[in-house]
Formats: sequence, C-alpha cells, structure tokens
Amino acid sequence: MPTDAPGYEIVRVVPTMGHTGGAHCEIRLTNVRVPKENLLGKRGPGFVIAQKRLGPGRIFHCMRWLGQAQRAFELMCQRANTRWAHGSLLSEKGEIQRFVAESAAEIQAARLMTLDAAMAMDAGTEARVEISLVKFWGAAMLHNVIDRAIQVHGALGVTSDTPLERMYREARYARIYDGPDEVHRMVVARRLLKDPGSAPWA
Ligand SMILES: Cc1cc2nc3c(=O)[nH]c(=O)nc-3n(C[C@H](O)[C@H](O)[C@H](O)COP(=O)(O)OP(=O)(O)OC[C@H]3O[C@@H](n4cnc5c(N)ncnc54)[C@H](O)[C@@H]3O)c2cc1C
Repeated sequence: MPTDAPGYEIVRVVPTMGHTGGAHCEIRLTNVRVPKENLLGKRGPGFVIAQKRLGPGRIFHCMRWLGQAQRAFELMCQRANTRWAHGSLLSEKGEIQRFVAESAAEIQAARLMTLDAAMAMDAGTEARVEISLVKFWGAAMLHNVIDRAIQVHGALGVTSDTPLERMYREARYARIYDGPDEVHRMVVARRLLKDPGSAPWA
C-alpha cells in the first residue's frame, strides 16, 4: 500500500523494548483505496501466500539467532578468559564452565534442528513440526545464551558498552513474533499426538 495514499495515517510511534525510532507504529486506515496494479497475485489468496512465507521466514529467524548466539558465546568466553575475580579467572570457576558447556550444547542443538528443518523443506515437505520445534526451542536458546553472556560480564553486561544488552532486548521479541512459543508447541503436540510416527526422527 502506498503510504502517501489518502486515508493512511501514522497515529503514533509505539516504543518497544527501548526502540523509539519508529519501527513499530499505530496506523489508522480511513477508506484507503489501493490501486489494483498493487495486487500481488490474484485477489483473495493473500492469507495463504502470507502463511507460505512464514515457513521460510521462521527458519531465517533461526539462522539469525544462531549468528547472534555464537557472537554472545564468543564474548562470554573472551570475558571469562580475562576477568580475574575472587582468586581466579572466571574461566576456572565451575559455574562459569557450566554456562559455557550448556550454551555450546544449546547452540549446537539449535543449529542441527535448523539444518534438519531446512533439509525437510528442501525435500519438498511442509516441515511444520520441524519448523515449529526450532522456532520455540531456538528462541529459548538465544535468550539463554545471551543471558549467560551478560551474567559473565557482570554489571558491564547490562551497559551498552557491549552489544549484549541490545541483543537481550531483541531476543525477547523472538518468543512472540511469527507465532508465540505456545502456538508452536501446540502445533508440534497436536500433530505428534495424532500421528507419533510422523516425528522428525521416525
Ligand atoms: C518485534 C515484532 C515484530 C513483528 N513483526 C511482524 C510482522 O512483520 N508481520 C506480522 O504480521 N506480524 C508481526 N508481529 C506480530 C506477531 O506475529 C504477533 O504479535 C504474534 O503472532 C502474537 O500475536 P498477538 O500479539 O496478537 O498476541 P495474542 O494472539 O493476543 O497472544 C498473546 C499471548 O497469548 C498466548 N497465546 C496465544 N495463542 C495461544 C494458544 N493457541 N495457546 C496458548 N497460548 C496462546 C501466548 O502467550 C501469546 O504470547 C511482530 C511482533 C513483534 C513483537
């Protein structure tokens, strides 16, 4: 829709998780007419087209999340290897080693789940279960890894002197956009309860 169309109005910018730059706005449409040349395909199947976009879109999110989680992981390791506190480097403390090991496991699991979903799509299937699995699991992985990286940085982690605080705020979106966690878990559970033999590993 052309944003200069009569009747298109930005009512207000909606601040979200510290963003005030106008990425999210409240829009009012008053009798807006859209020229038929602007139709993307035939009139009517827009919802179906939008749904079809969502599968690849969700995998794309998971790929971005992997990149961010890997960056957070690197920052966590760098800090642990250089920060001396209470008699040793952080990297020598068992709790911090647990953060590193759990993050590595979660990143690698999300990576393999993303690849598995992509392979299922390449094979021409709808891959609904594979995509929903990695959508809710990957979002939690992203949050967990960034959260641990912040923890290892202590107070520095919540300042904007590192990219982690911004990454943390944006990770919160991931559990909501393109379908909240609860809906993806429902998709997985409903399909597998109906047909356990259709699980990705079956
Ligand atoms: C940063 C960001 C970017 C976005 N970008 C886009 C975009 O580009 N295009 C677009 O179309 N949309 C976009 N969205 C919208 C997003 O897809 C919706 O916000 C999301 O699908 C949830 O819908 P809702 O906000 O209406 O919440 P609701 O549907 O009101 O759900 C609220 C909560 O209720 C619970 N819930 C909902 N359904 C169920 C269920 N079946 N079972 C159990 N619990 C349930 C969940 O906890 C959920 O979080 C974006 C959202 C965000 C935060």
